[in-house]
Amino acid sequence: MTTTAPATATDAGTGHELLPDGWEMVIGLEVHAELATASKMFSPAPNRFGGEPNTNVHPVCLGLPGTLPVVNGKAIELGIRIGLALDCTVQRCVFARKNYFYPDMPKDYQISQYELALNVDGRLELADGSVVGIERAHLEEDTGKSTHIGDSGRIHDAGYSLVDYNRAGVPLIEIVSRPDLRDPEQAKSYVEELRAILVAIGASDGKMEEGSLRVDANVSVRPAGSGELRTRCEIKNVNSLRSLGRAITYEARRHVDLYQAGDAPRQETRHWDEEDGRTRPGRSKEEAEDYRYFDDPDLVPVDPSPGWIDEIRAALPALPRHRRQALVDRGAPAAGAALAVERDLDGLALAAIEAGADAERTVTHVANNLAVEGAGSLDASHFADLVKLETGGGLTATQAKQVLADMVETGRDPATIAAEKGFEAMDTDELESLLDGIIADHPDEWARFVGGDDGDRKKMQGVFVGQVMKATRGQADGKVVNQLLNQRASAG
Ligand code: MN
Repeated sequence: MTTTAPATATDAGTGHELLPDGWEMVIGLEVHAELATASKMFSPAPNRFGGEPNTNVHPVCLGLPGTLPVVNGKAIELGIRIGLALDCTVQRCVFARKNYFYPDMPKDYQISQYELALNVDGRLELADGSVVGIERAHLEEDTGKSTHIGDSGRIHDAGYSLVDYNRAGVPLIEIVSRPDLRDPEQAKSYVEELRAILVAIGASDGKMEEGSLRVDANVSVRPAGSGELRTRCEIKNVNSLRSLGRAITYEARRHVDLYQAGDAPRQETRHWDEEDGRTRPGRSKEEAEDYRYFDDPDLVPVDPSPGWIDEIRAALPALPRHRRQALVDRGAPAAGAALAVERDLDGLALAAIEAGADAERTVTHVANNLAVEGAGSLDASHFADLVKLETGGGLTATQAKQVLADMVETGRDPATIAAEKGFEAMDTDELESLLDGIIADHPDEWARFVGGDDGDRKKMQGVFVGQVMKATRGQADGKVVNQLLNQRASAG
């Protein structure tokens, strides 16, 4: 059997382009997110990232004999919030023991939900409007963290291992999608949208880099359009969106290669190796699926009352897709609206637009010039005034950007700042004679601008705009300079 080199994540696009003709990917994701509670799922130990190893612990999360778990009510509430945000049915649920021996779980079992999950049968709408089914979103507890000391950092050749129980017992939600995703880009946008929802409703900080959001991918392939579900592999250890895309692409390609060689993949857990850019089978011990689930006798079923669910639903903040739509409805371009929501600056943008600022200019500033600390406390009416000054011709785009930076820093109004900086829109006559002088001083460059190819023309355009900006200390309006250049060129 030969293995073809897999396509890489730089082949962004649809799954169909990443696989040979006639094949399609079938992807389902399991996302684990740590919940933003003050304490752990079943103990009063703090739920806090970092800290000295084994300091955020309590006899319950250390699994000491005689201890009993107590359910964290806030975790249930956040779990319900997530379920409602994902259009799930919220139902009576039961905690179960998932038994396995691993030193990061000192009780020798993880408390999870098995037959009866808190949330079932929901849906998530992606930014492009496509819909992905949610099978379930259940509550469980996180494990501790093992560090294997040795050259490879892997358990099999470690001299010894260290274990930190700070994370053991942190509340988790596991969100399981249906196998509705068809390519790596769609899988990435699913995670992005889910993450945005979790953050927007205050359920999780969604930090992939700190491990509070982790993704496992179930991948299989099938003849395009066949509707069948073939053997899948579960890929673990994916630590970024980029890795997720690469891992899915590699794995799907591996399956196609196996089928084309007359072979077939085995159902197994595989680990993504970021350095080698490939998946590897998990050790056989980790593949054992017999967790001997049974209802945890220390915990009673959780049966949220309809009144409580309604209360949580009524307090649910606006979801990212609704917030994006609110901006688009007022004339903002979709991409800018998405960035505004991602930066949590859509409220500011909306208020500025409602105060009369041009929607497109407003979200362009949010997208390009407000990825800075303190942008959130910008005064919306000052922001609107700035945009109005700019669209009214009182400030060039470059000047507006500088004034905006000053506004974020000092909180002053744009007119005062513009006056202080000496920003006044340049008189067009003045600009024209300045430009004519520069053209006369640069005959070769001018010839290349007028007679050159597109590349030449673009390069020379930059030269002339640069000269004008230099002479006016950035006060000229680049757009006007370009218009004048084109007028002069077409006039011969
Ligand atoms: Mn899980």
